[in-house]
Amino acid sequence: MSYAFETLGLRPELVKAVVELGYEQPTPIQAGAIPALLEGRDVLGQAQTGTGKTAAFALPMLNGLDVNYHGVQGLILTPTRELAVQVCEAIYQYGQFRNARVLPIYGGQSIMRQIKRLERDAQIVVGTPGRVLDLIRRGSLKLGEIRYLVLDEADEMLKMGFIEDVEAILKETPKERQTALFSATLSPEIRRLAGKYMNDPVSVTIESKVRTVEHTEQRYYLVHDESKFAALTRLLETEEINNVLVFVRTRVGAAELSENLNGRGYPAEALHGDLSQDVRETVLRRFRKGQLAILVATDVAARGIDIPEVSHVVNYDMPFDPEDYVHRIGRTGRAGRTGIAIMLVTPRERRRLRDIESFTRQPMIRATLPLAEEVYLRREQRFQSILNTLLLEENLEAELDFVRTLEQGGYDLADLAAAAIRMARSSEILRPIDDIREVVDRPDRPQRRERVEDHDSSRRPERARRQNGQEPGMVRLQLNMGREHGIRPGDVVGAIASEAGIPGRAIGAIDIQKTRTFVDVKDIHVESVLSKMSRRMLRGKEITLTRASNN
Ligand code: AMP
Repeated sequence: MSYAFETLGLRPELVKAVVELGYEQPTPIQAGAIPALLEGRDVLGQAQTGTGKTAAFALPMLNGLDVNYHGVQGLILTPTRELAVQVCEAIYQYGQFRNARVLPIYGGQSIMRQIKRLERDAQIVVGTPGRVLDLIRRGSLKLGEIRYLVLDEADEMLKMGFIEDVEAILKETPKERQTALFSATLSPEIRRLAGKYMNDPVSVTIESKVRTVEHTEQRYYLVHDESKFAALTRLLETEEINNVLVFVRTRVGAAELSENLNGRGYPAEALHGDLSQDVRETVLRRFRKGQLAILVATDVAARGIDIPEVSHVVNYDMPFDPEDYVHRIGRTGRAGRTGIAIMLVTPRERRRLRDIESFTRQPMIRATLPLAEEVYLRREQRFQSILNTLLLEENLEAELDFVRTLEQGGYDLADLAAAAIRMARSSEILRPIDDIREVVDRPDRPQRRERVEDHDSSRRPERARRQNGQEPGMVRLQLNMGREHGIRPGDVVGAIASEAGIPGRAIGAIDIQKTRTFVDVKDIHVESVLSKMSRRMLRGKEITLTRASNN
């Protein structure tokens, strides 16, 4: 399969990087901006977070970078340090085969360290305007050689009062530089800035034709990125699902999600551009015949193929543009029936909901995720309804004979029934219900302080939380095996739940790393798990399970 990224004119090292990241084709903003930037044109892009704008400006910048020259050639200004770090990480990934040296610069970090690193080796600098200006004035950051300049989230920078700093920085850069400006809105102020500092820019906006989506109930759930999987599994258990199409952004994402679902006892298959035609056909056939209920797909893979009507479409990753959204959810609610379209939205992506709503001219309802108790209740109800059907409709003579024999052997009937239920529900052990970190509500358009708080108060504790053991009542244990040993979530749950004989729900989050795995276990079960798991084998290797240390 050929990748459209190859046709944009980017260097093979960059195409390789995006292909490795699992990108199948450029997003609309990338398809519009990359060729223009490669031609040397200035670009005025209307796009916000989640549209793929970072790669839209980063790939052309990396493409033109002189890797043998050790001076700052590219500068990206961002409104917040959080965004500066994200952009840096993205550039690092996109530029991994070009060995580009990228440096984030923002307030709150030791200025001396930044100065040292600047002197040593920075080819691309990503920073917030205040700190960048500070370093220019100290003479540590020299912009005389800058060839590429990007203003990312320009409207946010103006809103935060950075306009004077931005203009002061622009004046320090050579006139013949190439400039790209990305902004969610193109207000008169932004246009003034573009008019003054850009050279006949090409405008790139995401085209929007109005479409309506009838017969589809559209809901969204606000959920942190790391809780998405837990959210999906809860929905899979509580929705009346016949068959579901789950959309993700990348091939890698599709493969990982279907693998994780299988590991947790939800049979799923992935459909993405890397699979051979034969495999795709087989997967689709099983899905069409109802032998497979969960299909995880990328937009590219799902396009143009005959997927049957589904009861649910889940936008596990938000689509890049509203048009993709309409294509995605058009797979449900056909023939006058009501389909259900669900979307998981992270706090950062929240603003993009409005774009989709104005495109479809239909509101999306915010819903709350089912509680763990609701999932357990639902399991019980399902089990009971299966029992009822069996009791009413099936001939159970053979089983009854067996029960009578057991009863004559001295078994208590209630005990027998309880043991049989335990056996019948054993697969639920594989499906523990993970905790979900709650999203703290805040206004749609976060102001500066809140962004900083977002960085400080939600991200850091998250890291601390991951290391120190989880939610109240949970203790974090460490296993001496990880991805390298082929460990999957199902192995961990299976081993601990069945070997140590504790309920699946007593197992919390599982974090599989390269050579080790962290798993949260309810405190009351910890001692028993530790003692029963010692010297057990898993995937041919002896397990060492200990309490995770705090660092
Ligand atoms: P951004 O709007 O730049 O913040 O990107 C949003 C997300 O989309 C990031 O997680 C990127 O890694 C991902 N992404 C960017 N471009 C593509 C693409 N062409 N295909 C798939 N994922 C992408």
